Amino acid sequence: MTIPFFSQPPVGSYIAGEWFAGKKKFLVRNPADDSTLAQLADANEQQALHAVNAATEALFAWSALPAATRAAILEVWHDLILSNQDELALLLTLEQGKPLKEAKTEIAYGASYIKWFAAEAIRLYGDTIPAAASNKAILVLRQPVGVVAAITPWNFPNAMITRKAAAALAAGCTFVVKPAAETPLSALALATLAQQAGIPSGVFNVVVGTDAKAIGEVLTANQQIQKFSFTGSTAVGKKLLAQCAASVKRVTMELGGNAPFIVFDDADLDAAVSGLIASKFRNAGQTCVSANRVFVHNSVSKQFSTKLLEAVVDLKLAPGSEPDSQIGPLISDSAVVRVQQLVNAAIEDGACLLCGGRADVAGRRFYQPTILADTDMSMAVCQQEIFGPVVPLISFDNEEEVLALANDTDAGLAAYFYSRDIGRVFRVARQLQFGMLGINEGIVSNAAAPFGGIKQSGFGREGSKYGLDDYTDLKYMALGGLD
Ligand code: ADP
Repeated sequence: MTIPFFSQPPVGSYIAGEWFAGKKKFLVRNPADDSTLAQLADANEQQALHAVNAATEALFAWSALPAATRAAILEVWHDLILSNQDELALLLTLEQGKPLKEAKTEIAYGASYIKWFAAEAIRLYGDTIPAAASNKAILVLRQPVGVVAAITPWNFPNAMITRKAAAALAAGCTFVVKPAAETPLSALALATLAQQAGIPSGVFNVVVGTDAKAIGEVLTANQQIQKFSFTGSTAVGKKLLAQCAASVKRVTMELGGNAPFIVFDDADLDAAVSGLIASKFRNAGQTCVSANRVFVHNSVSKQFSTKLLEAVVDLKLAPGSEPDSQIGPLISDSAVVRVQQLVNAAIEDGACLLCGGRADVAGRRFYQPTILADTDMSMAVCQQEIFGPVVPLISFDNEEEVLALANDTDAGLAAYFYSRDIGRVFRVARQLQFGMLGINEGIVSNAAAPFGGIKQSGFGREGSKYGLDDYTDLKYMALGGLD
């Protein structure tokens, strides 16, 4: 088995600066062709506990380092990731499926959070507050919350880890992550580079294993852990949130979305089509901020769907490692079955299939870009997060109507709309009940901006000047006797 990036085949979890090689193994497969990429030791709750203990032991020394020292180490980690960008991208593509070009972008995007938080680490300002008397003072310190545990998904195997780890480490916290069992290799590659960068043993730990429930129980229940951060499905997030309640952990939840994408009658239609292609077909639609319901004003709906069809037929389905691939495989057979069921049900309920609608000749996991016209909010394809390359088109007549339809969901992660009317831009932006808005933009993610949702899409923000808040506690000091 040759595998990109690793000079020796990886053996398993990275805990307390060491590689765990247990007897029980699990396979990592390429979703494009099911070939085996690696065989890793299958960690369980014992290794999870070992990692939590290691992170607890490492906490004092790491948090006591000057912020500038932590920042310098993070910078080295960032630079090492970028100097290995090509190999890391190929590894990511092989285990996850996305086109190589997107994988390269993800590596750079993931690294950008490390750079961002290295720079934020040295600006972790506290406050002084005017006191009630002249012989008193009020000071506020921002201190690391402590040991942080995280569980991350397979759709962004690199960036979903760095986004959390960089903030945690910058604040002075130590970190244990359980990546998805589908994509553990990118996480282990990050650990290899963390070690090379001089991140001390126990500060960054990666537990890879298939028993998500058992590992998750340790990471949500253990009292040494002060903060838990999750990115994944809403259903699993709700369970983990409940599990965290017993020990009153601070929690960040980045859960599922159901993004509306609204095209008003005054929109630049070509820009809206390219924005939709970027939002919808990136990672074959397997992102939580993917456009999920596309609302187009009646007066431009025909024109828009014609332009969209023209753009979509050119998209090339192929294994992500092939240079011209634009859409790779879905992550698993069950993912394909789910998407197919949503499409079939929509057609049965009266939607009109404009293109796609089935797996492609490229392979059974390669789902064709699919456009469904005449869909409505009663259909499962509009109510559920599709997580596949399927565009449901819904026509609307006016702003009020489309706002009501767009907000008619429990999810509140991302929303997009296209309009050139400045009044409408502000009216609509104020009323959309979502944490992130792409306005004449199909891509919202950026390390400088706060990523996160409202409603059942979760809480907490990753990236931006707000990103350290979730990893720091405020400590208020009341000083008296100063006269
Ligand atoms: P997705 O739809 O992206 O697979 P999931 O929520 O199922 O979303 O998975 C996201 C992460 O949560 C993965 O690392 C997965 O292993 C983990 N996970 C799934 N179920 C549980 C559980 N019951 N307890 C803890 N972690 C879980």
